[in-house]
Amino acid sequence: MRSIVWCVLILAGCAADPTSTPAPAATSTSISTSISTPAPTDTSVAADIVSPATPSGNNVILFVGDGMGISTITAGRIYRGQQLGGTGEEHVLAFETFENVALVKTYNTDMQVPDSAGTMTAIVTGEKTRAGVLSVGADVERGDCEAALANPLRTLFEIAVEHGLRTGVVTTTTVTHATPAAGYAHAPDRDWEADSNVPEEAKLAGCRDIAQQLIDFNEGKGIDVVLGGGRQNFRPVSAVDPEYADQYGKRNDETDLIAHWQKEAPNRQFVWNLEQFNALRPDTPDQVLGLFEPSHMKFEADRADDAGGEPSLAEMTRFAINKFANSRHGYLLVVEGGRIDHAHHFGNAYRAMTDMTALDDAVQVAKDLTDPEDTLILVTADHSHTLTIAGYPPRGNPILGTVPIPQAYAGFMKPYTTLTYANGPGYKQPPADLSEADTQAKDYRQAAAVALPVETHAGEDVAAYAQGPNASALRGVIEQNRIFDVLYGALFREPTADNQITTQEDVR
Ligand SMILES: [Zn+2]
Repeated sequence: MRSIVWCVLILAGCAADPTSTPAPAATSTSISTSISTPAPTDTSVAADIVSPATPSGNNVILFVGDGMGISTITAGRIYRGQQLGGTGEEHVLAFETFENVALVKTYNTDMQVPDSAGTMTAIVTGEKTRAGVLSVGADVERGDCEAALANPLRTLFEIAVEHGLRTGVVTTTTVTHATPAAGYAHAPDRDWEADSNVPEEAKLAGCRDIAQQLIDFNEGKGIDVVLGGGRQNFRPVSAVDPEYADQYGKRNDETDLIAHWQKEAPNRQFVWNLEQFNALRPDTPDQVLGLFEPSHMKFEADRADDAGGEPSLAEMTRFAINKFANSRHGYLLVVEGGRIDHAHHFGNAYRAMTDMTALDDAVQVAKDLTDPEDTLILVTADHSHTLTIAGYPPRGNPILGTVPIPQAYAGFMKPYTTLTYANGPGYKQPPADLSEADTQAKDYRQAAAVALPVETHAGEDVAAYAQGPNASALRGVIEQNRIFDVLYGALFREPTADNQITTQEDVR
């Protein structure tokens, strides 16, 4: 079943499922394989967007909560509010004070329900494309190297470095994962994170893996701050990992890309644990590469248990912003809360909530350290997940808890959780008896209506929130690639009435 394969592919490279509940066997018949949605009307960005531009002196910080749909935000808001001792519903997240909000249509050119590669491509290039490909045109079939080489889409990172802006990527996934990679790499397959993932014929045709493209970015001048996971993709298969004696690199070409990167320019700092990270000084011009896990970084809920220690998303964000504080030409920083998505795929709302609130903490840091006069902060999601908030729980009921059953129904209704998923590994038939269950436990897996080995993305609109230069251009119901215009306008133009191309009528 292509859909099942797809779900598994999306999670390829993930750490092991953190939850203890065994996954049920997948039902094999109920999943539609028809993904032949015709390409939408042309959504390519207006031609003038990439005309010669002058940096405005402004900065852009783009926060992407991977899989942070609106129900995730609402549940995360209540979760955080309850952590702080309130009933929860009244809590205001850091980005919920932003006055400029839009609803965002996330579909890919070939998928009704999208993936992160296609959606992040839309955000960073201004053009929608297929699921699974990174910053290449919508005509490129997944895995087609030659078509990809012929159809790269220029990214906001590439435009930024051409104009002397500083650049940064911060994520909790591998730094070569779809969302961060769309900024600096062009690939017909998001899974080509190391050379061992790239088919021989694609290598011969000239395609490079994503880790290699990160190191080669901007003719080797690189990205100024890169913090996240995924050091296995930069190290040879023969090299034992510094943190885990039983793990090795993934590069068949036996190249140590980290050593190469350090050798190519002076003042480059590589760190892989918390102690080294804490010793970094943000007030130097040094470029920094921090890779804190062989694969993805820990979920926020498990971070304290990490052997080598890992900085939080907020700490990494603070470092990057401080690093750029004196940049004359401004900077472009992308911060991804990348594992909200993974927790949802596992049907594990607890870790989705804790990773979502970790992203909110990072937004708060950005608000505290920047001035809305010169820094656009835009918070959005690439796509949603199937999480629902339902039943009639009373005000202040624990968001991870069960819904109290009214006395009149007590004889024939069983307790159920407020949060459930439309599909995923939490499916059970007959439903589990939750009268004694601790549904607020870290490893609890919420019930799902449809059995799938991995919970899926969802296709409804996501939200985007912004403050700062050009933030007022973010309004209405927009195509996801219009977010590019808002970011571009903040970096290169003063907002004016006629460049606010962000409404549906502008999508032709
Ligand atoms: Zn996903």
